[in-house]
Amino acid sequence: MNDFNYLAFAMPAFFIFLYLEYFIAKKQGKATIFKYESSISNITVGIAERLLSLFISGSFYGLFYLIYENYALFFIPDSWWVWILLILVTDLVWYWYHRFGHEINLLWAAHIVHHQSEEFNYTVSARITVFQALVRNLFWCIVPLLGFHPKMVITILVVHGAYSFFTHTQTIGKLGWLENILITPSLHGVHHASNEKYLDKNYGDVFTFWDKLFGTFQKEEEPPKYGLTHSVKSYSFLWQHFHYYLELIEACKRENNLKGKLGVLFGGPAKLDQDIRPVLEKQYLQTNTSAKPNLRFKNYLNLQILLSVILLFLVTGFYKSLAGVDIFFCSIFILLTLINCGALLEQRKYIFYLECFRLIVVISFCFYRLDIFSYTALPVIIIIIMERAFSLKDAFNRYVLRYEKAGRSMKNNKHHQY
Ligand SMILES: [Zn+2]
Ligand SMILES: [Zn+2]
Repeated sequence: MNDFNYLAFAMPAFFIFLYLEYFIAKKQGKATIFKYESSISNITVGIAERLLSLFISGSFYGLFYLIYENYALFFIPDSWWVWILLILVTDLVWYWYHRFGHEINLLWAAHIVHHQSEEFNYTVSARITVFQALVRNLFWCIVPLLGFHPKMVITILVVHGAYSFFTHTQTIGKLGWLENILITPSLHGVHHASNEKYLDKNYGDVFTFWDKLFGTFQKEEEPPKYGLTHSVKSYSFLWQHFHYYLELIEACKRENNLKGKLGVLFGGPAKLDQDIRPVLEKQYLQTNTSAKPNLRFKNYLNLQILLSVILLFLVTGFYKSLAGVDIFFCSIFILLTLINCGALLEQRKYIFYLECFRLIVVISFCFYRLDIFSYTALPVIIIIIMERAFSLKDAFNRYVLRYEKAGRSMKNNKHHQY
């Protein structure tokens, strides 16, 4: 158990706080701040980030040490006040990392995912992609470059990351004078809102100083309307991750020269042609049915999430002691499951084939472990024969691809909008 990575416990802690938030929201009569599809979508994005970050965080920690040992600009002594200085410095770096994330298209392509949710609750804090984690870690390199010891940097980053989790909730209202010093849930809610006066405000993570200093501070004055100015009309796992990159490629294609293309990549999102997304949506997304999924389908989806979380907990915890092939298999399985969850929410017709592929991945892994990998073709043939003989695809679709009529759902769930 010595090798166990205790950061794995962040996952059960996340779900405990999420349950508490839901419980309190219900008591406050605000249960509508949660929407099932949106919460699932946020959680799937978060699981993927936690999983893929396992592969990159080690190399970044190494890079922090390399920079510190070879290129540190200042000698910073080992003293208690260094911690205070460090938290201020990390918050300042965060401010600019976050602000650039909104002002430069190439970085916004990664950060936009965090803002796609039209709900604002703890699940949104998980809505971070691995691309954003990459950019964030690159910005964090500034801190060891200044001369802060990587050990201190890594510790403070955990605290910094944990703080931002708690600012994603509507269960805590305005916090009076504290809002002059700390970024509170109300202030971060303003950052997530698309109301005209709230756009491009409150980039800070812990302190409000930087927003006040650089002119981006805004208190909550009118009810926030959460989400993007132009919403993303899809719960597809892949589309949510990659749509903005595709939009940038399309925008670059429309530019004739290098200057124009660079202008697209490094320019601001406001200047990007707003007609590109609808065109791509038509090309890549199927039109949604105006109905809501029924309970059996939800149970199936919940099970997929539970399975992914348990696997991720185990992979994170035993990362150092697991064999490479086990980590590889678990990662592929989790990613396929997450893509599957998005496809289920979207009611994509190809879910059955995705499920078959997932099953084949599991079988191949079991056969590999049993040293009979070369026989993998056998179960694949059996699956094909069974599908033909028993129309498995139809049975599966009847069970999973089911919707209630829109009218009935409206009666039961007035807050759901599709
Ligand atoms: Zn942001
Ligand atoms: Zn946020």
